Amino acid sequence: MTTTIPPRHDASSPATAAQPDFDGVDLQALARRVGTPCYAYSASAIRQRIRELQQALGGLDATLCYAVKANSNIAILQLMAQSGVGADIVSAGELRRCLHAGIPADRIVFSGVGKSEDEIAGALTAGILRFNVESHDELLTLERLAQAQQVTARAAVRINPDVDAQTHAKISTGKSENKFGVSIDEARRWFAGSALLAHVRLDGLHVHIGSQILSVEPFRLALKRVAAFWRELVQAGHPIESIDVGGGLGVCYRAGEDHPVAASDYADVIRETLADYCGRLLLEPGRYLVAEAGVLLTRVIRIKHGVERRFLVLDAAMNDLQRPSLYDAWHDIVPVSAEHAARPVATYDIVGPVCETGDTFARARPVPECAAGDLLLIKATGAYGASMASTYNSRPLAAEVLLDHGRYAVVRRRQHFEDMIAGEQPARSWQTL
Ligand SMILES: *Cc1c(COP(=O)(O)O)cnc(C)c1O
Repeated sequence: MTTTIPPRHDASSPATAAQPDFDGVDLQALARRVGTPCYAYSASAIRQRIRELQQALGGLDATLCYAVKANSNIAILQLMAQSGVGADIVSAGELRRCLHAGIPADRIVFSGVGKSEDEIAGALTAGILRFNVESHDELLTLERLAQAQQVTARAAVRINPDVDAQTHAKISTGKSENKFGVSIDEARRWFAGSALLAHVRLDGLHVHIGSQILSVEPFRLALKRVAAFWRELVQAGHPIESIDVGGGLGVCYRAGEDHPVAASDYADVIRETLADYCGRLLLEPGRYLVAEAGVLLTRVIRIKHGVERRFLVLDAAMNDLQRPSLYDAWHDIVPVSAEHAARPVATYDIVGPVCETGDTFARARPVPECAAGDLLLIKATGAYGASMASTYNSRPLAAEVLLDHGRYAVVRRRQHFEDMIAGEQPARSWQTL
């Protein structure tokens, strides 16, 4: 069933509005130059988000530690470093990227339930700011490895506050059934026994309840629980030097539908719930800083007329952008040229070339009629796009480009076939153990 409906003369309509340029760069010309699929990130938009958040936190002793997993391109990390932003890492690879990009170790915090001994030892050697510890076993491992290096590790307990972040189940992390953090009861026992830790200074609290949160209420609830626990700890003689409030601020994926929390409202919740706290605050925004600063440029390969549906087949696929197949995520998809945007609207299932039914960006989506070769934008793909990409179906990793006031720089060249198979080899020298 295909229907062509007349164009809606509504320039603000996400389905029909053209976006010919981004951060002053002509996207048609860019696509011709670097090819598609290609991620383009606006440096100005990222700096703007950083400023917004820093200004909202004005007067507080607050440090932004960008969640590297959202977009770990070295150029993005350099941009963070230049703005004085630190990092929240979850692996040794991310630590190396950050140090390589010039983010100082004393602005790096390390989260995650599965830090290996090698990763912990490497982070201790680098002298990172803090470990966000997620289990008692990890705490004991940290003590042992810090002792071996004759250093004192600084640690925060990641609290699982049992709060429903009201987001997609796969990106909810703060409920008691989730693998993250420990209960306040368990954390209380850690502090009670902390005098026995000679090489771990346990003086921080950490909480991160999930991602793409579009209301202040889950933040308020989680921070109230953390604040109450902090007061109890201080009473019990355990000074708390830092409270890390995590990330999770949502962004607009669907124009007119998603209403993100304003940075100032978020900061107000922090001020309100932690009003009498004078230690250091850490924040771990990921998506908020980069998602809307990125677009995925893709061309239409062909239109395929199925029995029931009309398929718009793009040259981008789920290997380039997993969010729709992984989380059923919505991304606005718009034409680049004004000429294209003026065409009548048609409804398509928008898919990629990968051999999976899940390789679908949108179902029954109204967009201006398309033809082979048309250039489209998949919007708000600066976070959890390129960083989650794979070479599934032996498709090369897409190019990534940073834009800044009319200029562009390729920050990841499109992967060559040789890069893709590097490390693979025929089974020639067989060995036995
Ligand atoms: C993923 C993650 C973040 C960032 O989440 P966003 O929703 O991208 O802001 C922050 N902290 C921790 C511990 C995370 O795992």
